[in-house]
Amino acid sequence: MHSVQGLKFAVIDGIIFDEAVFTATEFPVAAAPGQRKNAARVPLKIGYDGAMDYQNLIAEIANTLRDVDDQGEVASYIPELGRVDPDKFGFHLVTVDQKHHGMGVEDERFSIQSIAKVLSLAVAFRLEDDRLWRRVGVEPSGSPFNSLVQLEYENGIPRNPLINAGALVVCDILVSRLADPKAEFIEIVRRLCGDPAIDYCPRIASSEQQAGYRNAALVNLMKAYGNIENDVESVLDFYFNLCSIEMSCRELARAFQFLATGGVNPLTGERVVSVSKSKRINAIMLLCGFYDEAGEFAFKVGLPGKSGVGGGIIAVHPGNYSVAVWSPRLNARGNSSRGMRILEFLTTRTQSSIF
Ligand code: GLN
Repeated sequence: MHSVQGLKFAVIDGIIFDEAVFTATEFPVAAAPGQRKNAARVPLKIGYDGAMDYQNLIAEIANTLRDVDDQGEVASYIPELGRVDPDKFGFHLVTVDQKHHGMGVEDERFSIQSIAKVLSLAVAFRLEDDRLWRRVGVEPSGSPFNSLVQLEYENGIPRNPLINAGALVVCDILVSRLADPKAEFIEIVRRLCGDPAIDYCPRIASSEQQAGYRNAALVNLMKAYGNIENDVESVLDFYFNLCSIEMSCRELARAFQFLATGGVNPLTGERVVSVSKSKRINAIMLLCGFYDEAGEFAFKVGLPGKSGVGGGIIAVHPGNYSVAVWSPRLNARGNSSRGMRILEFLTTRTQSSIF
């Protein structure tokens, strides 16, 4: 049993019990046949199949990989990203009871790019609560991640925090609210991963800055609408650094555990966000995490998730697991093509989508 900031929670047999449902005398037991149904209290979230043979599943994924025709190109509009070996493949899944299953180059770090937007969103949501939604929406955009068109129609209020415009507003908030934004933010990310070595990659950040004309256009447009408080350069600098963070699949899967556990970092017992906020962040990922391919990802994979142009994808099954995959070739919508196929295989095979 952990207690953090007055919030009690425990992980028992893969089930997260938070203080609303858990007390020492109320250990949940299944109602015996004939017993009144309400004799047992229902825990926060059940559904984790502890008996699932994930190791066998990993072997099946390795087989499936051989049959997947890995189409697409690595992102080259950020010159440094274009230098990555396109055929790398890593996969790592962590269950909420901290069992790890992985394959491939699961420990090799890569540029997580837009996946980091979920972590900056979590920090801004925690700091701002619902005030955040005055400056950014929660609707899917149906547009590419770096689109400018919609932003002008909608008076400089981005559709959601996971497209570039929305993530830039979130960066502006963090630049305003954190005393030393880059240092404090990376410290939060390190705690989520349980690894003090996680860092920004200055090489990627500066490569992106040199090619960052569209992002500069987005911030300038929003500044003209009064939706950016800080100077354009500081917001862009924070954003390019955010996108340059490097992690392995294992570290990514760990960092996103808090969205599988109803807001708690299982490594430290700290509450990262409230249960309600973690549900809302997952909802935003489901609707907006893959830009104009969000429908396709929900349709085929059926999990909240987020992609990055570095070829990474994170996906979360609340109450069950978080999973990261890395495969750098991107489809036409800027999402890892083999990564999507493998996650589709995972949820089909385990029958574990959220639907
Ligand atoms: N840093 C990238 C950009 O701003 C992030 C895009 C992405 O990963 N989809 O263009």
